[in-house]
Amino acid sequence: MTAETPIYDWEGFGFDTRQVHAGEYPDKNHGLRVPPIALSAGYLFEDFDDQVSRFNGSIHWRAEDEPGRGDETAASPSEQRPGEAAAVRRQGYALSPSEHAPIYSRQGNPSNWVAEERLASLEGGTVAVAVASGQAAISAALLGLAQHGDHIVSTASIYGGTRILFGRSFQRFGIDFDYVWDADDDAEWERAIRPSTKAIYTETIPNPCNDVTDLRRIAEVAARHHLPVVVDNTVGTPALIRPFEHGAHIIVHSTTKFLTGHGSAVGGAIIDGGRFDWEAAERAGRSYPLITRSSRPGVPSMLNRFGRGAYARAVRESVVNDIGPTLSPLHGFLLHQGMETLSLRMERHVDSSIAIARWLEDQPEVEKVDYSGLPSNPLYETAARDYGVDASGYARTGSVFGVTVRGGIDGAREFVNGLRLFSRMTGIGDTRSMAIHPLTSTHSTFPSEINERLGITPGLVRLSVGLESVDDLIRDLRSALDRV
Ligand code: PLP
Repeated sequence: MTAETPIYDWEGFGFDTRQVHAGEYPDKNHGLRVPPIALSAGYLFEDFDDQVSRFNGSIHWRAEDEPGRGDETAASPSEQRPGEAAAVRRQGYALSPSEHAPIYSRQGNPSNWVAEERLASLEGGTVAVAVASGQAAISAALLGLAQHGDHIVSTASIYGGTRILFGRSFQRFGIDFDYVWDADDDAEWERAIRPSTKAIYTETIPNPCNDVTDLRRIAEVAARHHLPVVVDNTVGTPALIRPFEHGAHIIVHSTTKFLTGHGSAVGGAIIDGGRFDWEAAERAGRSYPLITRSSRPGVPSMLNRFGRGAYARAVRESVVNDIGPTLSPLHGFLLHQGMETLSLRMERHVDSSIAIARWLEDQPEVEKVDYSGLPSNPLYETAARDYGVDASGYARTGSVFGVTVRGGIDGAREFVNGLRLFSRMTGIGDTRSMAIHPLTSTHSTFPSEINERLGITPGLVRLSVGLESVDDLIRDLRSALDRV
């Protein structure tokens, strides 16, 4: 399918409205305004036949529970039940049985549905699936596409933990990876893509070097080969960039970071953009059996049953349900509550990051600042085009970036040890500012030639800029640089 503007659930409402309201539903028992934390492992079946139907996946809402299903005008968003707004607006792409008539919380939970609906709305996807961590999201997303004997091509600059996942667990599953170092180099892509390739994987703003990816370019390569593009948008967030608008097909998140936002809960999510043409890919020789084939005689394929939401439903029902990385309802609650303030927080995160990156560039102890929003950065043009610029012309490429201090590893040690307000810890996307030395942590298991190519040098420190007063953060960085 060619790129088209995604359908945003809660169409006609702005991003800030959707981040507060999308996915909410009225509590019919007590009138609770905030969706409650639904701590229940399972659900009551009305009677024997109800149980049979739910296990058959053949029932949806009962007729009396179904105001306006398929009728755009019937219920205002705040009157709708979880999932219903999406079902109505997505022109009858019915939600899965586990969402409508759940069996067990491993497959879905009302707290998580709110988070899923909200995130699908913010990213402009059809259906989201919440899972227990970012790593679980990446794993489930790719296991929905590839199996033993298959192959995936990834851009080289990605989060270290993801590279470890690909090189360790996915290799053991028999799924092979190749990396493309220069996404502008067509010949490199052509060399990497094989008949068994099932997906292209990338990140919007790679962690830790802020070397933004040109998604449109990658989408062109993918279109030539009938491949879905899977994008980790953890560092970008839908407040800064919406990858479906740039040709991506599937988005993954570590919701642990900016989406939940306060460093309180590990979580992840997969979002189906609903625009990948699975049948055309099959015709071109790429098979996606979980989506396009019937799982047993007499049952239509996910694609036939769920259309634009088929991939997400396959991931939920055939990967997440089997393997079990379920998001706790408490974490689902923290996630949908965190998203209510996403755009406000991102604005501050980015304003402070630009101020700090500009300031760091002028410090004599600093050799390099990896922030692609700076006009001096080689990726600035892509950054400015895709992320927009502030009044001074700096592109708004998030708040996770690298700074290289003088003196190699000794300089980095002194700098990190001198920080008081920045927390020395692994993690990004918190209200708190954080710093870590990638070479001796996230990238410590990689061969030195890989780290050199990735720009993970002895003097590099990753910063994640939080929401504290920017003057305090700069003072903290200055006194740490004094030790270098
Ligand atoms: N993706 C990115 C870009 C990350 O930075 C991280 C963690 O730092 C992950 C995925 C993994 O997420 P989680 O820690 O929630 O498993």
